[in-house]
Amino acid sequence: MAQYDVIIIGSGPGGYVCAIRCAQLGLKTAVVEGRDTLGGTCLNIGCIPSKAMLHASHMLHEAEHNFGKMGLKGKSPSVDWKGMLDYKQSTVDQNTKGIEFLFKKNKIDWLKGWGSIPEAGKVKVGDDTHDAKHIIIASGSESANVPGADVEIDEKVIVTSTGALELSSIPKTMVVVGGGVIGLELGSVYARLGAEVTVVEYLDAITPGQDAEVAKAFQRLLQKQGLKFITGAGVSKVEVKGGKAHVSYALRKDDSAHELKADVVLVATGRKPYVEGLGLDALNMKMTKRGQIAVDDGYATSVKGIYAIGDVIEGPMLAHKAEDEGMAIAEILAGQAGHVNYDVIPGVIYTHPEVASVGMTEEQLKEEGRAYKVGKFSFMGNARAKANFSGDGFVKMLADAKTDRILGCHVIGPMAGDLIHEVCVAMEFGAAAEDLARTCHAHPTYSEAMREAALACGDGAIHS
Ligand code: FAD
Repeated sequence: MAQYDVIIIGSGPGGYVCAIRCAQLGLKTAVVEGRDTLGGTCLNIGCIPSKAMLHASHMLHEAEHNFGKMGLKGKSPSVDWKGMLDYKQSTVDQNTKGIEFLFKKNKIDWLKGWGSIPEAGKVKVGDDTHDAKHIIIASGSESANVPGADVEIDEKVIVTSTGALELSSIPKTMVVVGGGVIGLELGSVYARLGAEVTVVEYLDAITPGQDAEVAKAFQRLLQKQGLKFITGAGVSKVEVKGGKAHVSYALRKDDSAHELKADVVLVATGRKPYVEGLGLDALNMKMTKRGQIAVDDGYATSVKGIYAIGDVIEGPMLAHKAEDEGMAIAEILAGQAGHVNYDVIPGVIYTHPEVASVGMTEEQLKEEGRAYKVGKFSFMGNARAKANFSGDGFVKMLADAKTDRILGCHVIGPMAGDLIHEVCVAMEFGAAAEDLARTCHAHPTYSEAMREAALACGDGAIHS
């Protein structure tokens, strides 16, 4: 068997990006992947297929609601469900094949099968044991069930996000358990395709951790699009009776019991680290209380020569966080100074409008007792947004009251997921709101709203 510098277990955004960077830095690298295709959760059953479905359903929404307003007449398209699923799958295939191409180009070996670690320095795949100076675990995560509830997932009627991306038909009614990113993205897909969607959330607000003002505006906009919300409600049971799902829940405010019926129930109550079959117990590897692999600042686990990155360790379960960790550990192993700035990791919800945030929320600033100022600007004051029926939403910039340094930014509006990056770059350079405000932004673009919010941190926005 070949002797590798690095063997990575898992080919998700953490693993595959790490492998490419390792190879670029001259390390002989292999990746173990048990799935039939490369790319992990993200490319196969996560970010990419969900974004394809969001795009297709948004196009339908535009045709049904906005084409007529622009003088574009004619019959609205109808949904060919199989055709939509084929489009989603072809998007996935193009991306997973792309990683295979990149592996070949960078001379990375794909060791096909499920891997385990019999001891440091060795990775077993099937009957073969491979030697490696360094082993990196990038085994990702899997859907978590509803905590403390009686729910048996069959991926047909009671589904996780994986089943929700492959339903046999568009349900008439859908209950989403969990008002987080994945539930709201997929819930809004089915709402646009005509399903009556009800979101049941344990907390009193959706998207926990989000800036409260943005979360409130977001819920209002989703309600306008037809989604219903039941917040402060704990689900205790979901069962299938006569082909329909029955969801039992109790309102936390008065403990009153209720039931909902639906064609499909999407369980979207978060994800948990996936470490099955790796043999970590036998290695006596240290884990966190939440079942993640415990690592130090350089991604080293408690077992010498073994590292871990991505969803399987602490931190936001996001593809770009996993990718950045993949690059950082590759650079560390190659003798460079790999580093991830966890203060500047954007978070995006890809609904319409999109929601994006980076840095601290207003609630966090208050909790820390920091003196800050707020610059807000509505997309209603942005010419491009108005022309494109995208005036809903706003930019909220938070800056230090004294130094004007940008501390956070929260956007709900068109292309928020792309707009947020100018603030990420600004924050990496320790910029002040005035730096953004004095940067010329092309007209007419949505990005002018970012500048206006920065201006609002100072002498005031122009168009509000
Ligand atoms: P994963 O992508 O989970 O990859 C791990 C891989 O390891 C898997 O392919 C698995 O088969 C393999 N593996 C595990 N154990 C073994 C073993 N023993 N041997 C061999 N192979 C093994 N994040 C975003 O940033 N943006 C989004 O828009 C977004 N949308 C999402 C939508 C959905 C529906 C879901 C479910 C997730 C979404 N995420 C999104 C989260 C994102 O997918 C994850 O954060 C990301 O995939 C984590 O990357 P990873 O490399 O840590 O692990």
